[in-house]
Amino acid sequence: MARPLVLCSNDDGVHAPHLEALAKQIETFAEVLVVAPERQRSAASHAITLHKPLRLTEVAPHRFSLSGTPVDCVYLGVLKLCDRKPAVVVSGVNDGYNLGSDVFYSGTVAAAVEGALRGAAGVAFSLKTRAPDAAHAIEFAAKIVRAAIEEPMPTGTVLNVNMPGNGSQQYQWTTLGRRLYEDDVQERKDPRGRPYYWVGGGPAGHEHVEGTDCVAIERGWNSITPMHLDLTDRGRLEKPPWQIEGFRVVVGPG
Ligand code: MN
Repeated sequence: MARPLVLCSNDDGVHAPHLEALAKQIETFAEVLVVAPERQRSAASHAITLHKPLRLTEVAPHRFSLSGTPVDCVYLGVLKLCDRKPAVVVSGVNDGYNLGSDVFYSGTVAAAVEGALRGAAGVAFSLKTRAPDAAHAIEFAAKIVRAAIEEPMPTGTVLNVNMPGNGSQQYQWTTLGRRLYEDDVQERKDPRGRPYYWVGGGPAGHEHVEGTDCVAIERGWNSITPMHLDLTDRGRLEKPPWQIEGFRVVVGPG
C-alpha cells in the first residue's frame, strides 16, 4: 500500500526554516509534498487569488513555491500536484503564536482550514517567536501529524496547535481564548506629502479564561485546540433575537 500523503504549506514562505524541519520529520513516516508561498504572506487569512496568474516553481524535489497565498498553495497542491488525496494538510510551523481570535486573520490556520474543506485533516502549527527549543516542538508537531494519520479525525476537523518551544512535555486540549491587541492606526506622510496608514498594534495580553489556548501557553504548555468549520450558532438558531416587522418568519420546512 502507498504511504500516506501529507501536503505541507505555511504562510511565512517556502524558505522559512521550521517548514522544512517539520517536513523532514514527517518524511520518516509519510510521503511529503511542500507547496508554500514564495514570500512572506502572514495574516493573509483565507484569501485566494482570482484575478492574476499564479506561478509555480519547483525549488527542490517535492518542494514547490507559488506566487500566491497559503490557501492558493493548498488549493493548487491538492487539485493539481497531489496524485491522491492527502491524509493530512499541515500548515507551519509558523513563526509566532496563533491564539484565540488570531485564527480569523492567520494564513497558517487558513491553509489548514482549506485542507479540511478538501477532506483532509487540517493541522496548523505555531511556535513562539525565538523559541529556545524549536527542535523539541517540531518533534511534538510531527507526532501529532502521525497520530492524525493513524487515528483519523472526522472530516472537517482542524487542529490549531500552539507551542511555547520551551522543552515542555505537557500539552492541553483547549478552547480558543481571547487575545488582546493594541488597536492602532498610524497615519504618516509619504515623500510626496500624501498620507498613508499602517494598521495593527502589538499584542497586549489576553483574557484569563481557564482552559483556553492563551492560558495554556502562558503556563508554558503546548496547546491543541480542535476546531470545526461549521460556524453556525446553533443556540441562537433555537432562540432568534428578533422578529422583523412586516416580514413573516418561516419555522421548520415552512
Ligand atoms: Mn506567519
